[in-house]
Amino acid sequence: MSALSLAERFEAVGQRLRQAESLANRAVGSASLLAVSKRQPSSHLRALHDLGQRDFGENYLQEAQVKIMELKDLDLIWHFIGPLQRNKTAEVAALFSWVHSVDRLVIAERLSNQRPHAMEPLNICLQVNLEGEVSKSGCTPEMLPELAYAVAQLPRLRLRGLMALPAPGSVTAFTQLADMLRHLQSELPELDTLSMGMSADLEPAVAAGATWVRIGTALFGHRN
Ligand SMILES: *Cc1c(COP(=O)(O)O)cnc(C)c1O
Repeated sequence: MSALSLAERFEAVGQRLRQAESLANRAVGSASLLAVSKRQPSSHLRALHDLGQRDFGENYLQEAQVKIMELKDLDLIWHFIGPLQRNKTAEVAALFSWVHSVDRLVIAERLSNQRPHAMEPLNICLQVNLEGEVSKSGCTPEMLPELAYAVAQLPRLRLRGLMALPAPGSVTAFTQLADMLRHLQSELPELDTLSMGMSADLEPAVAAGATWVRIGTALFGHRN
């Protein structure tokens, strides 16, 4: 992929985002771009950084560790967005600024205990499994309030909001997630984050209130 086509894609995604904000009467920049860089080489991330992108999302720890090392001269912010197993929490707590995919208390407790003290609290989104979703990850909507109140107590985490990965075309999922956040905000007013929307559906996600859209294909082209 040439640097030019990456620049064009980055520009086009930025335009889609600004347009979606404007159609939703939202402030410019109120929805942020998380570049999903799984299966992309470090050189593509470096090129995107040079165009102005700082936040990158990775799904697989081992793959991410290599890129974090290779790009440690850059001022990047790393987000973990994949399924997270118990035996990976220590590395994730030490390397990332955000985890979007927490779906059970034991994982949150481990992340809190293992977050190095020299670092800021780890930003957390709880992944919710909405109806009809293909993925098995995510807590159920019924379990969400209890999980949220428990995670909000953990000292080395900062609970920020909710994440979902709805099946393509499930149009009500984004507004459902936004409603769940609103309910939680009556007890947890500090929550400010909705991580939702991917390449195919960033517009309805922004219309429903997304604050992070997680974009891979539209930025980097199809993955191998
Ligand atoms: C791969 C992935 C994305 C990006 O999907 P695209 O359709 O390539 O934009 C977003 N979120 C998660 C959790 C992913 O795994």
